[in-house]
Amino acid sequence: MLVARGGAEGDGDRRDGAGGAVERSGHGASVAEPAGRGGTVLEVPHRSLPDPSATAERLRAVVGADPSSTALFFDFDGTLAPIVEDPAAATAVDGALDLLRDLARRFRRVAVVSGRPRSFLVDRVGPEVDLSGLYGLETRVAGQLHDHADADRWRTAVAAVADAATAALPGRVVVEPKGLSLTVHYREVPDAEAAVRAWAEEAGRRSGLELRPAKRSVELHPPLDVDKGTSVRALSEGCRTVAYLGDDVGDLPAFAALDELAAAGVTTCKVAISSDELHPDVAAAADLLLDGPEAVVAALAPLVS
Ligand SMILES: [Mg+2]
Repeated sequence: MLVARGGAEGDGDRRDGAGGAVERSGHGASVAEPAGRGGTVLEVPHRSLPDPSATAERLRAVVGADPSSTALFFDFDGTLAPIVEDPAAATAVDGALDLLRDLARRFRRVAVVSGRPRSFLVDRVGPEVDLSGLYGLETRVAGQLHDHADADRWRTAVAAVADAATAALPGRVVVEPKGLSLTVHYREVPDAEAAVRAWAEEAGRRSGLELRPAKRSVELHPPLDVDKGTSVRALSEGCRTVAYLGDDVGDLPAFAALDELAAAGVTTCKVAISSDELHPDVAAAADLLLDGPEAVVAALAPLVS
């Protein structure tokens, strides 16, 4: 939420509709239409986003108040880079990586928190920015690399499942081995979703790897208590304001971490990045919506110009 939670939270809070605020009630959250229209809309079509300039202004007002005690967290795919058919071809939008660098020079912490391996992020994101790869299994914080101590023993199992997936699944299903986890993408063959999920569930049972759903894909991950929420919690230590920008169900643990921080008095802002594929749970959990990676850059660039 936009301000630290206070006494008004008990029976639900309601913020005005400017900037795509979320209207909460005892029955959960939904994305509000403009003020006064009620909070029943769960699907957030690309074209019905609230006034983008008001959204950007609200975001800047929250995070720009005290940069020296503020952490900014960004998912990568769908947040800084458009989702593309070939995951290897994903590229941050113009200005996004320079923006992160400039923000990192001004803010207490700027980090990319992604399901991608750290190696993928290191190749793209400058050294001023902290990284949490594979949902926190691999990090780069203040230039120091760290791998989760219990993850390495899963490398062999991950490689075996990746090989088996490549052999078993249709050719246009993309198997992306990531060292300590793997992602199986059925983006190009949506009809294969059920078969991929069934195969992945069986592979998970056999290998001990844990399934995590994602956009048009499924991930197999070591069964460790590590996700974007644990990453954000660890990296938010000492910050009085925390914002997280993400677009997928894998970002929900980070949003939940912000809810916990808010309950502890931290000012938080959960931003969902909209697309035609935005999951309703992500929209419902967010405070603000931005219309794609370009809007992220446009919203935050004034903070460093
Ligand atoms: Mg994403």
